[in-house]
Amino acid sequence: MATKHSPLNLNVRDLINRPGEMREEQFTVDVAEQMGEGLVAVRSGAALDVDARLESVHEGILVTTEVDAVAEGECGRCLIDIALPVEVEFQELFGYHSGEAIEYEVQDDHVDLESLIRDAVVLALPFQPVCRPDCPGLDPETGLRLADHPELVTPEHSDPRWAALTGFQASEDSGPDAESGADQQRER
Ligand SMILES: [Zn+2]
Repeated sequence: MATKHSPLNLNVRDLINRPGEMREEQFTVDVAEQMGEGLVAVRSGAALDVDARLESVHEGILVTTEVDAVAEGECGRCLIDIALPVEVEFQELFGYHSGEAIEYEVQDDHVDLESLIRDAVVLALPFQPVCRPDCPGLDPETGLRLADHPELVTPEHSDPRWAALTGFQASEDSGPDAESGADQQRER
């Protein structure tokens, strides 16, 4: 829970009831409580780079926030440790008075970004993170990471994505990668 002392609870006293005034704040905070429960998460202690634009408007304070962080965890296919950059951006109006369209309120001259940032970051985390888009995963028999042991990749259990990569590598010298490009598109 955020308190008045949370670094993500920003003082906007200087902007209240001064429509047209604007201020930007850039700061880095340590994540207090892990964000995300999946294979990758922004762990407690990780740095959160926050860039917030605070604008005074008639109804309240309009906050535009950009957050950068790094999520850590493991690849969903081959289980090695990975770190993924996470970037989120959102805009929210903190009203002076709650109303139908106003979900957040200016409280004690502060706008609390904590839950907004947490929700946005958690939503941005991939459900199936991979160390690289074409990660071939693990060999079902040996449990070895196929990316490290391409000799274990046989047609029987090769992932189609891996097959595409092998083809690409084989034809690397011969020029255009039209084939690999088509495969990437199909994956989307
Ligand atoms: Zn992987």
